[in-house]
Amino acid sequence: MNPIQVSRATFDEVMVPLFAPSPMIPAKALGSHIWDTNGKQYIDLSGGIAVTALGHSHPELLKVFHAQGDAIWHVSNGFTNEPALRLATKLVDATFADKVFFANSGAEANEAALKLARRVAFDRAGKDKDEIISCLQSFHGRTLFTVSVGGQPKYAEGFGPLPGGISHIPYNDIDAARAAISDRTCAVIVEPIQGEGGVIPARREYLQVLRELCDQHGALLIFDEVQTGVGRSGSLYAYMEYGVTPDILTTAKALGNGFPVGAMLTTAEIAKHFSVGTHGTTYGGNPLAAAIAEKVIDIVSDPVVLAGVRQKHDRFVAGLKRINDKYGVFKDIRGVGLLLGAEVSDAFKGKAKEFTTLGIKHGVLTLIAGPSVVRFAPSLLIPDADIDEGLARFEKAVAEMVATVAATA
Ligand SMILES: *Cc1c(COP(=O)(O)O)cnc(C)c1O
Repeated sequence: MNPIQVSRATFDEVMVPLFAPSPMIPAKALGSHIWDTNGKQYIDLSGGIAVTALGHSHPELLKVFHAQGDAIWHVSNGFTNEPALRLATKLVDATFADKVFFANSGAEANEAALKLARRVAFDRAGKDKDEIISCLQSFHGRTLFTVSVGGQPKYAEGFGPLPGGISHIPYNDIDAARAAISDRTCAVIVEPIQGEGGVIPARREYLQVLRELCDQHGALLIFDEVQTGVGRSGSLYAYMEYGVTPDILTTAKALGNGFPVGAMLTTAEIAKHFSVGTHGTTYGGNPLAAAIAEKVIDIVSDPVVLAGVRQKHDRFVAGLKRINDKYGVFKDIRGVGLLLGAEVSDAFKGKAKEFTTLGIKHGVLTLIAGPSVVRFAPSLLIPDADIDEGLARFEKAVAEMVATVAATA
């Protein structure tokens, strides 16, 4: 049977119009290279959205994918399976956590974390200790609960009534945290580095104070490491980089390197507030996802890989600074490990998306983080030559952007 003919126009005909994908359709990928349906090659400095941390088609992941696919790729949670048990053991051994719950996405991992926090507070203090505190500009997913907890009201607009008992405070503002957290607080949820909100790292002192306040008031501290986890910060999880340990941690995105999987990690003391049937999932912890994630954790945990993230960070930032010395398009270049943000200067305010669009034209994939930040989240294994070539192509996009703005000024 011949495959039916499809093109970018098909998207507008048959897809719910929630996305506005690029005219370019990726068809093949290897390492940090992607080819579109016309055979044009791109350097991938986006990693999906901080997902393909080991690059595309990593040979060891492919091997596991095929082997586990041949063996068994689904069992219900009426059974356990060896890949899930091995992955959970490795996550427990590598982190503060004693217990793991598997899900299929970041939003689902956060949903489980938030439900668990509510349940813990309910069991310990009754129904009035229900307040969840989150940060403005934060992003925690798109389910109704996680989108309500997220700090970008436009994503929750028109979906009410929303879950209650949620309030938002400015990120990195210690005084605001002191004023907001009380004995009614059930949990504080925070990204150690705000990803979608503009690649904004937390100050160490801020996370330390959140930890102290949560302890004082019997609240749980949840770190959403869906974007910062699995080596992206240069440590396996960013909390290790900061030296501040949460009660619950969520991880997804890079965990499966593109195969959908998420996880919630916590202590035994907290986990015991969930019992058989109080929460659940059909696919979470399925053997195929777990086998792939196990291999991802093995590779990312290698100290050589993590040290490489720090070296590549320096090379990347130096390259961006060189571009900026020439064109003056950025007012800030920031980030941790290989989660980097370049905030555009005022002349380009709100135009981050145009940089990424021009990047595609010049053969490089980048991301935005809000309207005025260009974000980079490449493979943690990206060869130096691909960083250099990717940035050289990005420089062409910058040059074109500068010329266009100059021409219309
Ligand atoms: C991407 C992201 C999520 C949502 O993950 P999904 O897999 O899209 O549900 C949640 N939190 C953070 C910090 C993220 O970056």
